Amino acid sequence: MKIGFIGLGNMGAPMAANLVAAGHEVTGFDTAGVTVEGVAQASSGPEAAKGAEVVITMLPNGQILRAVADEVIPAMDKGATLVDCSTVDVESARAVAAQAADAGLGFVDAPVSGGVGGATAGTLTFMCGGTADAFAKAAPLFEIMGQKAVHCGDAGAGQAAKICNNMILGVTMIATCEAFALADKLGLDRQKMFDVVSTSSGYSWTMNAYCPAPGVGPQSPADNDYKPGFAAELMLKDLGLSQQAAEAADADTPMGKAALDLYRRFVEDEDGRGRDFSAMLPRFEKRGRG
Ligand code: NAD
Repeated sequence: MKIGFIGLGNMGAPMAANLVAAGHEVTGFDTAGVTVEGVAQASSGPEAAKGAEVVITMLPNGQILRAVADEVIPAMDKGATLVDCSTVDVESARAVAAQAADAGLGFVDAPVSGGVGGATAGTLTFMCGGTADAFAKAAPLFEIMGQKAVHCGDAGAGQAAKICNNMILGVTMIATCEAFALADKLGLDRQKMFDVVSTSSGYSWTMNAYCPAPGVGPQSPADNDYKPGFAAELMLKDLGLSQQAAEAADADTPMGKAALDLYRRFVEDEDGRGRDFSAMLPRFEKRGRG
């Protein structure tokens, strides 16, 4: 298949490389001039999109996605499909879907989970929104770049699934970290805490699979000095998107709001930028109630 790939950053570059390795003809463009072995380099987004059956975007945010879509959609062949794998606000995903439909194109919003490791290994999970036809067109590519693709509903449903999942993740990580910090102050050994909670009703992915306490549970960024993993500023971005969506939809999300406020403080005022999002534990550890 002829594929255009726009946004060859930490995630996009290995995803494009996996498409090339599977035998697809990929033309890529990134404003930073990034090159990827086996990916033909275009000098603009529209040039990468021209003649492609599928154009994939992997960009920082919704504003950039909208700007790229404005340029790229008119350059795409009728009947082609635009697949946005970035994490963006639901409104931007729906706006670009409408723009694509007006131009006779298919559109799938397909944000991912699995991080750079998953992008490199081709084991991402894609959460997808769009028509059944557009999803079917993109599905073989999801199989190459990932291990699972869920068609969640109409345009925007993929982004909705992603931000709801990550709102749970952010809230749960904070709860897990504050519980460890409380356990410390109560003189409870961390390993014992893990042994109990990981098999009791407080268990969660953050406790069982990604334990924020070093040396406890399976290997996680906590065992590597909290190097990401999933950086706190990316969690902050996703929590911001979930609050933006909650405001637009008039949904009451007090825990999501509290998590956003905490990660904002952590990233902006407390040296959390560039650290894994589980580094909330050493943050709580150092604090009292004041
Ligand atoms: P990144 O900043 O490494 O990559 C984005 C790339 O887009 C950059 O190389 C940048 O130069 C390029 N770009 C910016 N504007 C452009 C334009 N107008 N035209 C072409 N290229 C342009 O970010 P990333 O880590 O690869 O993340 C990409 C997306 O994936 C984000 O939306 C992020 O939220 C999401 N995501 C990231 C991770 C992760 O662990 N890094 C995990 C899940 C989802």
